Amino acid sequence: MLIARSSKELLNILSSLNRDHSVGFVPTMGALHPGHLSLVNSSIENNDITVCDIFVNPTQFNNPDDYKNYPVTIDEDIQKLRDAGVDILFLPTIDDIYPEGLKKISIPLGVYNEVMEGQYRPGHFDGVVTVVKKLFDLVKPTRAYFGEKDYQQLCVIRKMVEFFKIPVEIIACPTVREKDGLAMSSRNLRLSPEGRKLATQIYKAMVEAKEMFLQGLPSNEVAAAILKKYSGPLEWEYFEIRDENTFLPVENKHQKRNTSIICGCLC
Ligand code: AMP
Repeated sequence: MLIARSSKELLNILSSLNRDHSVGFVPTMGALHPGHLSLVNSSIENNDITVCDIFVNPTQFNNPDDYKNYPVTIDEDIQKLRDAGVDILFLPTIDDIYPEGLKKISIPLGVYNEVMEGQYRPGHFDGVVTVVKKLFDLVKPTRAYFGEKDYQQLCVIRKMVEFFKIPVEIIACPTVREKDGLAMSSRNLRLSPEGRKLATQIYKAMVEAKEMFLQGLPSNEVAAAILKKYSGPLEWEYFEIRDENTFLPVENKHQKRNTSIICGCLC
């Protein structure tokens, strides 16, 4: 695995590749777990070259403490990517990605910027768009891999690609979960033992909500029942049953929409 520690090094490596090679790209913030590696494996299976990056992007954090405490496990990460068979790892510095300071670009994201993560993490998606646009400009991937765990982010990336007319295929990868159902996440490393136990209720709540919805209960009643049953130590930011493209609320299963249950929670 070749490691590029600057854009210049990365461009040098990429320019030596055969132009006909397909390039799969997996952007990450590190502290890698099997969820990340599922994206990496899909890329390796479907492309000639796989490029991965690890960059904790300062402009997407709306909470300075979250940024300061974001887990870093770089040596283990490098080993995992090497073992997986990644071809190129990009490890840029902040100055390299933001030579003109931490400026964000802002594109019309509509509903995605207004509800759920958009509502609770102001400026977050502008930071995501900014960094992913810069990374796409450098890597020029044929395909780029994103997890459905961050479903709203996936929609934002698709919107950005459409907005800038970037010739890349965005591949959505299913959420990888722990045995007890909790979605794998780098931030899980920061959970206390009690928080970790509590977090298993998030998946339970989602499964229960799905059952109630499929039995025909209206969405607002489903959400109310779930919030009543699972609130207390679990602090929900939102629990929504929405159309997975328009993000409009879905009233009940008879509306015949592609529906997703999306939630955000603190524990
Ligand atoms: P992050 O390092 O958290 O920015 O995540 C990098 C990419 O990995 C994003 O596209 C995430 O959606 C994806 N990802 C993170 N955790 C999981 C998971 N448990 N299952 C699938 N994809 C994931």
